[in-house]
Amino acid sequence: TFITLEGGDGAGKTTQADMLGQWLDGRGLEVVRTREPGGTRLGAELRRLLLHGGDEIGDVDARAEALLYAADRAQHVAKVVRPALERDAVVVQDRYIDSSLAYQGAGRVLDVEEVRRISEWAAGGLWPHLTILLDLDPETSAGRRRARGGSADRLEAEDTAFHVAVREGFRALAAADPHRYFTVDATLPVDEIHTRIIGRVSGYLTR
Ligand code: C5P
Ligand code: MG
Repeated sequence: TFITLEGGDGAGKTTQADMLGQWLDGRGLEVVRTREPGGTRLGAELRRLLLHGGDEIGDVDARAEALLYAADRAQHVAKVVRPALERDAVVVQDRYIDSSLAYQGAGRVLDVEEVRRISEWAAGGLWPHLTILLDLDPETSAGRRRARGGSADRLEAEDTAFHVAVREGFRALAAADPHRYFTVDATLPVDEIHTRIIGRVSGYLTR
């Protein structure tokens, strides 16, 4: 089973993915807890360049950026996700194709359908069984990112319009695919979000 968590920065994806992973582990399932970008050694290098490359890489063209995320994804699916699914592990992953559709598609100048095509090619057509969207308004997201401080990345430079477009991109994806997507209000308390997620996931696992 392949479960992804999506949403803007500061939505709580990492926290909820960890909690879900522990819950699944407690039920005796093998869990592979991973993320994009950066879930492989190659990916870690691509993540560093994409988020913190700065002057080292200069201004990155939108298509080049999309292809770097796709390269990270191709390596990750081939080396981590598919092998895990083949041995019946549950993969719990921070971000996947939907992040590319929202950030490189809705957030940038690229066409969402074009980003979908290169993403699907990179992933060899692998889609998650379930995608949890932690939906958060851009103001709260910005506040949480400021509070977290420290690891400011390149996207910190983007304006509110970018983050609004990304959020709307995620919401449109969820609305278009309600069977795969489960949306949770990311302003709810952490434990309440976890409860809702395991409610959805347990229904899925027993089906
Ligand atoms: O949440 P995480 O630390 O994984 O996000 C890494 C950064 O990469 C975030 O700033 C996110 O907005 C960005 N990102 C992106 N396009 C993707 C995946 C992540 O712009 N496809
Ligand atoms: Mg982040």
